[in-house]
Amino acid sequence: MDRPGGSGGFAVGIDIGGTKTAVGLVDEQGRVLARLEMPTRPELGFERAVRQWIRAVEQLLEQVRLETTQLRGIGVGCAGPVDPRTGRIHNPYTLPGWEDCDVVTALQERFGVKVRLENDADAAVVGEWWVGAARGHDPVVMLTFGTGVGGGILLGGRIYRGSRGQHPELGHVLVSESGPRCYCGMEGCLESLASGTALATAGTPHGWTEASAVLTAAEQGHPVAEAIVARATRAAADAAWTLAHAFLPARFVLGGGLMRRLFDRFAAAMRERWARATQIRGHSIEVCRAALGSDAGLVGAAALGLGRFPE
Ligand SMILES: [Zn+2]
Repeated sequence: MDRPGGSGGFAVGIDIGGTKTAVGLVDEQGRVLARLEMPTRPELGFERAVRQWIRAVEQLLEQVRLETTQLRGIGVGCAGPVDPRTGRIHNPYTLPGWEDCDVVTALQERFGVKVRLENDADAAVVGEWWVGAARGHDPVVMLTFGTGVGGGILLGGRIYRGSRGQHPELGHVLVSESGPRCYCGMEGCLESLASGTALATAGTPHGWTEASAVLTAAEQGHPVAEAIVARATRAAADAAWTLAHAFLPARFVLGGGLMRRLFDRFAAAMRERWARATQIRGHSIEVCRAALGSDAGLVGAAALGLGRFPE
């Protein structure tokens, strides 16, 4: 049997989100050869999760008939604050109980390859830049609207990092003076208004306990649901205004599960805002849907595993 991907290398990408984790085997062209998905379940403990990731990698290798020795590396994108230098995660809010857990060592020991850890939104922007909607563009700003709101910036061919290698949290830029209180320490940040959690929280008193239920009710013309979605759209457009003025990206990429149903609406609101800008050429910014869909983080993590992207 021919090896998929020819003579190139293979890497594993692991995308750890607050509710689900995806593990994929990716070739040097950025193609996902096989993938597995599982609930994240932080409450069941970190050790169990690591065993699950290892088993998933073993299964994927078996599925495409690769030996462990053919694996070039593993990249992990994880929700929330992470330390890429130590391989540890620090996310007490979306991954409670996993504070200061070491994501890298156990995988490295089991598979004998280099393992790199990045924030999941950073992994996603790398994926979109490598083989997706932002290919060949720089700078790139990406926002991912899922359980929370993540963001990554690619600048000068590298992941933009803050002081001490920290990941800037674009999901917590302030967009409203009054809004729901967020765990980030402020009320009215983007995540508090435009995340899946925000939609579900606002919808719960009306019987819509999940973001998808709010979206369905809004699509059916329910005025309360429509107001919740309109508020989220306004928050996203306000954040895009601020980020456009701060970074003037060539591409502004929108990803995450919510964009399957809200991309057109969010993108239109952003374009409308930017068209009013007088101090930047807002119309030169192209807003695009993540071409890799929900695989952006996984593919980007694999690019890191392949060593295709500078540390
Ligand atoms: Zn916040």
